[in-house]
Amino acid sequence: MPHFPGAISSKLPNIGTTIFTVMSRLAAEHNAINLSQGFPDFDCAPELRALLAKYVNSGLNQYPPMAGVAPLREAIAEKMASHYGAAYDPEHEVTVVPGATYGIFTAIAAMVRPGDEVILFEPAYDSYAPSVEVNGGRPVYVQLKFPDYSIDWQQVQNAITPKTRMIVVNTPNNPTASVFSAEDLRMLEGMLRGTGITVVSDEVYEHIVFDGHRHQSMAHFPGLAERSFVVSSFGKTYHVTGWKTGYVLAPRELTAEFRKVHQYNAFVTNAPVQYALAEYMKNRDAYLELAAFYQNKRDFFLAGIKGSRFEPLPSRGTFFQNLRYDAISDEKDTDLAVRLTTEHGVAAIPVSVFYREPPPHKVLRFCFAKSEETLEKGAQILSRI
Ligand code: PMP
Ligand code: GLN
Repeated sequence: MPHFPGAISSKLPNIGTTIFTVMSRLAAEHNAINLSQGFPDFDCAPELRALLAKYVNSGLNQYPPMAGVAPLREAIAEKMASHYGAAYDPEHEVTVVPGATYGIFTAIAAMVRPGDEVILFEPAYDSYAPSVEVNGGRPVYVQLKFPDYSIDWQQVQNAITPKTRMIVVNTPNNPTASVFSAEDLRMLEGMLRGTGITVVSDEVYEHIVFDGHRHQSMAHFPGLAERSFVVSSFGKTYHVTGWKTGYVLAPRELTAEFRKVHQYNAFVTNAPVQYALAEYMKNRDAYLELAAFYQNKRDFFLAGIKGSRFEPLPSRGTFFQNLRYDAISDEKDTDLAVRLTTEHGVAAIPVSVFYREPPPHKVLRFCFAKSEETLEKGAQILSRI
């Protein structure tokens, strides 16, 4: 193919390939234990696979309704009512989407105009800033405080200007594995009262919260629910990241704007997957038991690296464990992540890539959504370093 003859003025001049793709590729090339990108190395429930086969084989293979199939929207609304005491109308306030990343992007595209400011917490999941920028918005950052990654709400207040259109929140948080408290949400609720600021709340790890804590959903706080796009993903909850299916909940007026963009972006989400998920959601244990399932994996991994020179930071939710390596090396985390993969055979994610400027602290993120065998092998390698 000849080269493009024109000059390209990139809309995202500073964006390379996402770290998850980079590290998973490197892990595969070097046959390393891949604790980098967040996805399970075990399969989803056989019942869920059987349901997908059932719906594919029963001929539900054409375009479903734009907002999602009715049984799935109803099942989502029921879960929100029973789990969070939140009332979402499946017809006007629930939209099924091809993954949470898409839901976040589409909410931003629907709301953010050129010049608008969007507040992000740093470190920030890597899709947020590019989604804001490609839509003409300007990310404004508030730093989470190291090492507990808590929020200084005064700084959030200081970051709000007349141009603030939106704030993006992610709890349980990737990459820090911290969680917002109810007090955090009340602070945010008070701060946004009387403003026209919207919230995109990335809650993909909503069912993965540890040590008896409860997930704090925007949906549960009326002053936040009224202005929030609550985004979640079936990928994390049912071990099907490759199915790329999630949902967006928002008040009717916000959902109407969301769907205007959605209908010309993806238009619809995979039909048989939606029917399968709708039926599978009747089994509430599948998500109610998830926190204990992953807490066991966290503890198994932590037991495996006990006595190593890595120092764990608290993991209160998600399926990530962050480790400090001050006692091991002065290297940049990006360098160590590559060296661990290529020389030692275990891949991790360098947390500095989620900052604009690398911070002084040294942290790697490890995914423990893995079989015990994988975790044991990874921990053995880390213990020798
Ligand atoms: N947000 C966060 C914080 C995530 O960790 C992920 C998962 N990788 C996503 C969004 C994306 O979810 P999905 O695969 O459904 O797009
Ligand atoms: N969210 C996953 C992670 O944090 C990866 C998803 C992706 O590769 N985009 O590792």
